[in-house]
Amino acid sequence: MFSATVMIRRTGTLWSRLTGNLMQTPIEDLDLFRMARRQFDRAIPFVHPLKGWRGMAEMLFEPERTIKLTLPVVLDDGFVHTFQGYRVLHDNVRGPGKGGIRFHPDVNESDVKALAAWMTWKCALTDIPFGGAKGGVACDPKILSAAEKQRITRRFIAALGDDLGPHTDIPAPDLYTDSQTMAWVYDTYSMMHPGQNNLPVVTGKPLDLGGSEGRETATAQGLFYVFEHLLSSGALPSLPDIPGSRVAIQGFGNVGGNTARIFQRAGAHIVAVSDSRGGIHVPDGLDLTQVESHKEKTGSVVATPGTTPLGHREVLEVPCDILIPAALETQITTANAARIKASVVIEAANGPITPEADDVLSDRGITVVPDLLSASGGVVVSYFEWVQNLANEHWTETDVHDRLRTTMVRAVDTMVTTRATLLDELDDYREAWAEVQPDAPPLAPPTLRTAAYVVAVQRCRRATEQRGIWP
Ligand code: GLU
Repeated sequence: MFSATVMIRRTGTLWSRLTGNLMQTPIEDLDLFRMARRQFDRAIPFVHPLKGWRGMAEMLFEPERTIKLTLPVVLDDGFVHTFQGYRVLHDNVRGPGKGGIRFHPDVNESDVKALAAWMTWKCALTDIPFGGAKGGVACDPKILSAAEKQRITRRFIAALGDDLGPHTDIPAPDLYTDSQTMAWVYDTYSMMHPGQNNLPVVTGKPLDLGGSEGRETATAQGLFYVFEHLLSSGALPSLPDIPGSRVAIQGFGNVGGNTARIFQRAGAHIVAVSDSRGGIHVPDGLDLTQVESHKEKTGSVVATPGTTPLGHREVLEVPCDILIPAALETQITTANAARIKASVVIEAANGPITPEADDVLSDRGITVVPDLLSASGGVVVSYFEWVQNLANEHWTETDVHDRLRTTMVRAVDTMVTTRATLLDELDDYREAWAEVQPDAPPLAPPTLRTAAYVVAVQRCRRATEQRGIWP
């Protein structure tokens, strides 16, 4: 008998010690940009299985530009502190770059590049006329005062200068940034560009400052529309109806909290939620009003009266029908994928499941609804905000929701139909791919994620070919 020690690291190699023999096996690499590449590579044989096309694939995957900035800021202690800031424009072939700005201690170049790439694919899949971008500042928003966050934001936006713009690159909220942060982004850009309508330079703004109805809850609402349509069209046969179904959600921030409320309103039982300090569980369903007021008082959902405490990651493993990872990236890996008990996992965070964990879930018959679709409601309503700003209009919440539902339903149908077609033609794709890569294992049947990638990459590819490569 032997015992295997599995270590997962962000980079490097994985070593398993098997009865004294040291063997080097391929690692589950948690570097986000390389993870995005593995997802992309799974789609390429279905996009264009020709060898000479490799250069085009590189062009579609590699970011157009990566900006790295050192931001000096005077903090409340009176001293200068420096922060690293990043803005990546991944692709702008279908329209200006679009994507959030995050404030988090772990922000780094690789993560921002991956997150920017995912924005390109999200915008292409939902067919909104944007490319992809993302930005972030490595800082700890939990220990910064509002005044410090304002100074970091202003310094970051000022340093980016004309690399942002209503028709070039348009930021929005992301982890630990919100409508207040976007108001500072707008004000800073506007001070530098007086005398013109600058509202469309940033989305996710406050309602009083050109923000859109429904933007705050858009990611959660979009996810719900995706889920509802998949369910009603019979694409999730293993699931009961929404009323009475059990939902576990990792995260209780903007996306996790709003998703919990929307699913509960539809009759689901929210059996577990978590935040960065830990999780809580009630098998019959949490009282969300109580959880919210506890979080308001203490800053965390942890220790809400009448709940069983769980670790932040243990929330992923509770018995439930629907699991919604709504926190950070790479939360479901080969280390815990075998313990997931849900029938369906719907991604609300960006990149919460590694490709290797995807394989484990797929082998176990668990459907994964991919982030490119289920986490794209935010950017879709950002697009609506941008259109309203350009036209100086203000749409009603009903109008925004109707348009959001139409956009999400169309994207679901395209993804599901594409997958069905790829499955029908799998033998042809396998044959074509075997000619190009004779030593590679046979192509795996495409998952919903791969189908989503195929739709998105095809759209970017077509736009690129139609525009032609300059010069
Ligand atoms: N940060 C959000 C996302 O990851 C929204 C981006 C946007 O609205 O531009 O999709």
